[in-house]
Amino acid sequence: MLDVTFKDYLLTPATAAYLARQHGLMIDGQSVAALSGKRKAIYDPASEEEITTVAESGAEDVDLAVRAARAAFEGAWAKVTPSQRGRILNRIADLIEANGDELAELECLNSGKPLQFCRNVDIYGVADMFRYMAGWATKITGDTHNPSMPGEWHAYTLRQPVGVVGQILPWNFPMNMAAWKIAPALAAGCTIVLKPAEATPLTALRIAELALEAGLPAGVLNVVTGKGSIIGDAITNHPGIDKVAFTGSTEVGKHIARSCVSSNLKKVSLELGGKSPVIVFPDADIDAAVAGIAGSIFFHAGQVCAAGSRLYVHDKVYDRVVEAVAARAKALKVGPGMLPGHDLGPVISRAQHESVMSYIEKGRGEGAEVVTGGRSLGQKGYFIEPTVLANTGPGMTVHDEEIFGPVLCAMRFDEEDLAGIAARANASPYGLSSSVWTRDISVAHRLAKMIQSGIVNVNAHTSPDASLPYGGYKQSGWGRERGAEVLDLYTQIKAVAVKLA
Ligand code: NAP
Ligand code: MG
Repeated sequence: MLDVTFKDYLLTPATAAYLARQHGLMIDGQSVAALSGKRKAIYDPASEEEITTVAESGAEDVDLAVRAARAAFEGAWAKVTPSQRGRILNRIADLIEANGDELAELECLNSGKPLQFCRNVDIYGVADMFRYMAGWATKITGDTHNPSMPGEWHAYTLRQPVGVVGQILPWNFPMNMAAWKIAPALAAGCTIVLKPAEATPLTALRIAELALEAGLPAGVLNVVTGKGSIIGDAITNHPGIDKVAFTGSTEVGKHIARSCVSSNLKKVSLELGGKSPVIVFPDADIDAAVAGIAGSIFFHAGQVCAAGSRLYVHDKVYDRVVEAVAARAKALKVGPGMLPGHDLGPVISRAQHESVMSYIEKGRGEGAEVVTGGRSLGQKGYFIEPTVLANTGPGMTVHDEEIFGPVLCAMRFDEEDLAGIAARANASPYGLSSSVWTRDISVAHRLAKMIQSGIVNVNAHTSPDASLPYGGYKQSGWGRERGAEVLDLYTQIKAVAVKLA
């Protein structure tokens, strides 16, 4: 069902009440208006209707948030023990689950992702990230060392929180990306100035309220909403911020790295774009591979940084695999995520819709064959048919660039030489994720070594677990989120050397 209005949705009372509120910025534990008094409308990408408004911050609001974060870092938060930090993180997880229906509806309304995924996948993942990081709070340690310098020494390292961190989020998984950023920073003892994407601030604001309810001291988690070009720059250039963690496009990531360096050389970690390869061998479980391929590129209308957007299938099974993926694509139901029975929602905005559609047109122009899909759907809302393109390859825009929409580029290979196959997979400036489909463990592990990406999945298209490090090779980023590795982003090491005699 397409062309709905906001009134067609059945909202729980909690969601309706939340949307009706006058959302402020979260600064020092208070919901406050922007100093300029400006507000900004927030839209549902399925109906294109306004659903609520939020405060629109300027640089002066960022400054207040940084002051609050600094005061909390040096004050209340410094006095909270690691065990208490862990308890607070666990309570945040409990509150996220207890408010799961409301958060899932807000996420669906604001990001377009079908409600069943928000409810069953995101809420679980977000709560799990807080619980996983809660466990780390008490396990952040230094080492003792045995120096060989003359004399007698006692030497050890301290692992200390990096300080006030600025965190900048994308719009595709607003709630998950907030959890990936907030939970490890709090576990490490940092304080936060968080900027959600301009289009999708609602769940981050709600999580900040739940965090206060869970006992997080005022000023530890501040949320500023507004434009990246204004408050994003205010964060990355602010001398009071010690580190920036960013998830978003490679282009903006480069800009952010430059600002971080030229301001106060603040530390910076980047989770950027991808153009992830999927490689299918003839011995694979083809049904599982087909389901994995379709899930990887069509889930959330392809607006997934790790989306498997370049498909390489061995010649022996190419026709069968591509036909089956196209059949799945055709069978997927596209429509508003708030109404049951839809597998794909809209893309986030008119600009994103135009961008994806123009990629499809460029693909046609460059000689790609549209196996299925390729059209925009409905009069209202930013819906796009799941699309499979064949006859694609290096040098074509659809192959080389991240589309960030439900568009798969299928290619065949017939070489048996794994180095040659890896070279095709690696022919991209990106290196975020990848998957290999085979029953041959030697092929799987040899390719896993050769593929230049931060994540290699074998016989699976995704591995969304809080314990696994996540991040990019090449232009997909700097640093790793999730897992124990993320703690490196939010801590710094101090060597203490004591001359005993
Ligand atoms: P984006 O345009 O790069 O925006 C990301 C964030 O940066 C938004 O909050 C944006 O604010 C902000 N921003 C924009 N200009 C800025 C500036 N000058 N200084 C500081 N911040 C600024 O990315 P997007 O369009 O939201 O998301 C899509 C991209 O994110 C894709 O490339 C995707 O692959 C990538 N992504 C990567 C991962 C990962 O983990 N590797 C996960 C998800 C998404 P506004 O919203 O106000 O513009
Ligand atoms: Mg953008």
